[in-house]
Amino acid sequence: MELLKQKIKAEGRVLNNSLLKVDSFLNQQIDAELMVKIGEEFARRFAGETITKILTIESSGIAVALTTAIVLKVPVVFARKRKTAIESTDLYSTNVYSFTKKETNEVTVAKRFLAETDKILIIDDFLANGEAALGLAKLVAQAGAETVGIGIVIEKSFQPGAEKVAAAGYHLESLVRIKSFTNGQVDFL
Ligand code: 5GP
Repeated sequence: MELLKQKIKAEGRVLNNSLLKVDSFLNQQIDAELMVKIGEEFARRFAGETITKILTIESSGIAVALTTAIVLKVPVVFARKRKTAIESTDLYSTNVYSFTKKETNEVTVAKRFLAETDKILIIDDFLANGEAALGLAKLVAQAGAETVGIGIVIEKSFQPGAEKVAAAGYHLESLVRIKSFTNGQVDFL
């Protein structure tokens, strides 16, 4: 997605060899118009799939999940992150190691928001090691529902997430794919 590449080139900040900061348009301040275009692009890329619901993870996935959901006319559910594991029979739950925070969170979603008949599109902002995306797919599997696709705004292809997602057999669509960061510059695939 050319527009997104230009935005990353103009405003993205490479923090070290593996972390990209995009808080001026995606992770803190949100470029609403760009979010709408991202939603339209995801809807186009998954046009061949039957989708009944979008699943994302709080908080950075919510904006893009919402704009995609508006185009697809389906609801959005976001999984919550919590540090303490309080046993609950009403929740689907899995552990996800956070690439940015370097800590493990329990990620949960209320059982009543995922049905066996659901066909779920998973959406997230970044794909690094695949923990978040594959964790969300586990929640879908716990519900007996089907993950029909995984949509990622920014894939860092030099990290193992994309390969893991492909190896697990999911239909992955990443709007931009980053080959490497060199001297503070972003190199796209
Ligand atoms: P993964 O679970 O695939 O290892 O990492 C994806 C998650 O970590 C995303 O939900 C995202 O919030 C965060 N993340 C991973 N890499 C980056 C990055 O380079 N920049 C930012 N802002 N977030 C990242």
